[in-house]
Amino acid sequence: SDHQLSYPASPDLMDWATHYPAFAEDKPQPENGHSNNVQDTATALPQKSLSKQVEIADIGCGFGGLLFALAPHMPETLLLGMEIRTSVTEYVAEKIRAMRNRSALPEPPKDVASEAATSEAEAPPPANVPGSYQNISVIRANTMKFLPNFFRKAQLRAIFLCFPDPHFKARKHKARIVSQTLNSEYAYAIRPGGLVYTITDVRDLHEWMVEHFERHPSFERVELDAEKIAEGKAEMNEAEDGGLAVGRREMEMCVRLIMTETEEGKKVTRNKGNKHVAVFRRLDDLDWP
Ligand code: SAM
Repeated sequence: SDHQLSYPASPDLMDWATHYPAFAEDKPQPENGHSNNVQDTATALPQKSLSKQVEIADIGCGFGGLLFALAPHMPETLLLGMEIRTSVTEYVAEKIRAMRNRSALPEPPKDVASEAATSEAEAPPPANVPGSYQNISVIRANTMKFLPNFFRKAQLRAIFLCFPDPHFKARKHKARIVSQTLNSEYAYAIRPGGLVYTITDVRDLHEWMVEHFERHPSFERVELDAEKIAEGKAEMNEAEDGGLAVGRREMEMCVRLIMTETEEGKKVTRNKGNKHVAVFRRLDDLDWP
């Protein structure tokens, strides 16, 4: 449960350098000569910082299929998977290490092996993959509780909510990761023009997510035809970005990858199910009179 989760008291206290060592740099020491050797680890500042911040979060990343698919397409962007299950998080962390080193890939944990998408043996990546998977990492976190502890205001350019647990029964709806309150936390972490991507095979959950994001004052839905994009037929016209912080090209690639590269997306394809996709744009903050 949550009391076993460790999480930083604030984003500044997060030791990101251990997650993305290729992007780590020494921190300038404070002018007054005091080092950061505070005894209390809860408030000790990390010794190294990153040359850039995490910009994309995959919430409930499961086995990390989307992270591994996105990584080579945006080698200069830091991506973070967030997952509540310990064994799954550890597996993703091990797989990232193996992909970085191009060593043998780990076996999925036994208790959840049936959920892992691939039955065929996966080969480690070839040499010269852009970024060599240095730009992805994973943390164990309950994102329903601690999201603002990890990200500063307007830090992110995208959040993925791929195949969230549906929690079908009405009395379980409060466990859904889309709600008025949680959408406000997503709005806090995402910069204006940034995007939230949602995908599910559960129609009722899709409608729930659309309704909650459309109702929220910080978001508007982005018009798109996911089926067309998945077939590679979308018009990738950069001139039509229409206020997106990320180009339309990146958005269309992301839509394609959430449909094809998430473990759940692959499962739904195998079972010939429907995939409901929606994308929401973070609006500028209103200037209150
Ligand atoms: N996104 C992946 C995909 O599309 O293949 C995994 C989808 S899986 C159905 C949902 C995942 O969300 C599970 O791995 C679950 O452990 C995780 N999860 C559920 N609630 C969470 C929470 N509050 N914080 C972080 N992860 C959570």
